[in-house]
Amino acid sequence: MQLAAIVVSLVLIAVAIALFARAAVQLVRTLGLGQPVPAGLRTDAPGKRTATLAREFLGHTRMNRWRLVGVAHWFVMIGFLTLGLTIIQAIGQLFQADWTLPLLGGFVPYEMWIEFIAAMTVVGIGTLIAIRLLGHPARAGRKSRFTGSTFWQAYFVEYVILVIGAAILVLRGLEGALHHVDGYGASHFVTYPLVAAFDGLGTGTLQNLVYLTAMIKLGTTAVWAITIALNTDMGVAWHRFLAFPNIWFKRDAAGGPALGPLLPMTSAGEPIDFEDPDEDAQFGVSRVEHFSWKGLLDFSTCTECGRCQSQCPAWNTGKPLSPKLLVMSLRDQAHAAAPYLLAGETNDITERPLVGTAEQQGVIDPDVLWSCTTCGACVEQCPVDIEHVDHIVDMRRYQVMIESSFPSEAGTMLKNLERKGNPWGLAKKKRLEWTKEVDFDVPVVGTDVEDLSDTEYLYWVGCAGALEDRAKKTTKAFAELLHLAGVSFAIMGGDEACTGDSARRLGNEFLFQQLGQQNVETLDAASAKKIVTTCPHCFNTIANEYPQLGGTYEVIHHTQLLQHLVDAGKLVPVTPVEGLITYHDPCYLGRHNKVYTPPREIIGRVPGLRNEEMHRHKERGFCCGAGGARMWMEERIGKRVNDDRVDEALSLNPDIVSTACPFCLVMLSDSVNGKKNDGTAKEDLRVVDVAQLLLESVRATPTATEAVRS
Ligand code: SF4
Ligand code: SF4
Repeated sequence: MQLAAIVVSLVLIAVAIALFARAAVQLVRTLGLGQPVPAGLRTDAPGKRTATLAREFLGHTRMNRWRLVGVAHWFVMIGFLTLGLTIIQAIGQLFQADWTLPLLGGFVPYEMWIEFIAAMTVVGIGTLIAIRLLGHPARAGRKSRFTGSTFWQAYFVEYVILVIGAAILVLRGLEGALHHVDGYGASHFVTYPLVAAFDGLGTGTLQNLVYLTAMIKLGTTAVWAITIALNTDMGVAWHRFLAFPNIWFKRDAAGGPALGPLLPMTSAGEPIDFEDPDEDAQFGVSRVEHFSWKGLLDFSTCTECGRCQSQCPAWNTGKPLSPKLLVMSLRDQAHAAAPYLLAGETNDITERPLVGTAEQQGVIDPDVLWSCTTCGACVEQCPVDIEHVDHIVDMRRYQVMIESSFPSEAGTMLKNLERKGNPWGLAKKKRLEWTKEVDFDVPVVGTDVEDLSDTEYLYWVGCAGALEDRAKKTTKAFAELLHLAGVSFAIMGGDEACTGDSARRLGNEFLFQQLGQQNVETLDAASAKKIVTTCPHCFNTIANEYPQLGGTYEVIHHTQLLQHLVDAGKLVPVTPVEGLITYHDPCYLGRHNKVYTPPREIIGRVPGLRNEEMHRHKERGFCCGAGGARMWMEERIGKRVNDDRVDEALSLNPDIVSTACPFCLVMLSDSVNGKKNDGTAKEDLRVVDVAQLLLESVRATPTATEAVRS
């Protein structure tokens, strides 16, 4: 028995080490196929990055958002990292059954730790296996976050851990029996029942059982290493190594998810100068090797856990996009093409179009690419910090800027932006029409005030706020609140152009740059410093993306300013607004910019309102369907995203659905109106911005209330 155990174990270990080393080199070379990243983008503030890594890894700060899974996974992870010495122990036991580690063998705290963490590894992995089985697609279908995951790989990894954990405990029991442990003690506080069970077996039998169990433990470990070495695309196993660099190199050194601004377009790691681009500049991504090395690292790190998929509004409404499946497809393509690319060969695999239909052998179907609302739910949830939105937009950039291939409806929006500076193609002067519908003066920069030197806030109205009838109600309400609170503000009027949010997220970086530079020049000429917006998309773009164009301003969202004015006693909500309200988090206010509290605070200050949260709220808020330029595209596949969101709201039977974004307002109103027409929503259900509610409560006069209701 002993000889067989030694031979089998050592041969497997030798093969495993050789193959694993080869695979590690292969992985590094595969990542090296990716493009460089701009200097410092991924390596600035190394101390902060290390602290972020330590926090995310030791504290499991991202995993623990899903409490039970997070805790179970923490024990499994700690077991993986700290049970390494049990391999040495098992090798020693192959040669001498009662062998113990020098120094540590018999050291009670060490033995207690091994007992505890091995037991918790078994409990933890048992929990994860149970969760996977209970959430199996066979039960939950498309709702299962595991739909599309590679099950054999996940089961393989999980059962390997279970076997190894169990083997460690059995070995502990056998060791105890060999050492004649005769009662519960600290060193065997978990495994004493096993010691007792083995008591009475002869020494020879115990020794053979040690050899057998050590061989099972070592053999299982080696088979695991061999299997993952032969499958470098097996993220469910490789994330144990790759998650560390993937977290360290994340976009935000301080630990925030890759949300908010999009990254500027780069080619070979350098920003593209759109006025004079290099002849060989790469616009966006059309081959997997056009992604940066960090992109390839992202894809290789995916554990296929499906958290992203479970939150994705596209997937949840029956569309073909799942961020998990998208990442898996890109990973599979990267690993399939890598050997040929590294050998300098081209063939059908390396030449596969990245975006294309099944007939075109595309890696990502166009319907997948264009279903994304850039809501960021996937990025927010991913436990290993994969940056889905950046990758999706990079692929869109190539499709739009080089192939001119995108949903045709969006072309109208782009043309309107190019010609008129707003998505509806309306005349500039229309931006001022709402000012004639309020009974106070709204100063316009360039007409009523020369610049903003003596004005506290520039109110950036946004295209929807100025031109869309429903959004205009928010604009008027907010302006009236500023007026009532005595805040000095002005607007840009016809000089305001679209910030370029939709153009950028559609993939037209060139148009975004044009619009952005024009706006930055206008803002700088007007001496803008403090800007308030009612549109979270404008807020995100001006605050987070215009610095990329040289425009740096202090930007706040109107809910933040309104909360401040209420707190300061400059706006006093007095009139009750009776009813049950539920608040919808706009993605670009909430997830992308972490503004969750101010709208809720305002709602909380309005007397009479009873607030009830929808199941999916704050970080897990569900998109309205308008982001990522989806506002300007037809929604032909599956259920409409806004209908899904409104159905969730209706399950609370609210009187008011509130939000803080003109696009959300339009999407939710459209859906509610449709449901009123078919009798599934009550006639008096209102969809309003929180500014409208606040005004309703601040102004007790019938005039104001009527104005809001109209
Ligand atoms: S950003 Fe939103 S819509 Fe796009 S893949 Fe992620 S979760 Fe889905
Ligand atoms: S991308 Fe992230 S959240 Fe999605 S399956 Fe992979 S590891 Fe999980």
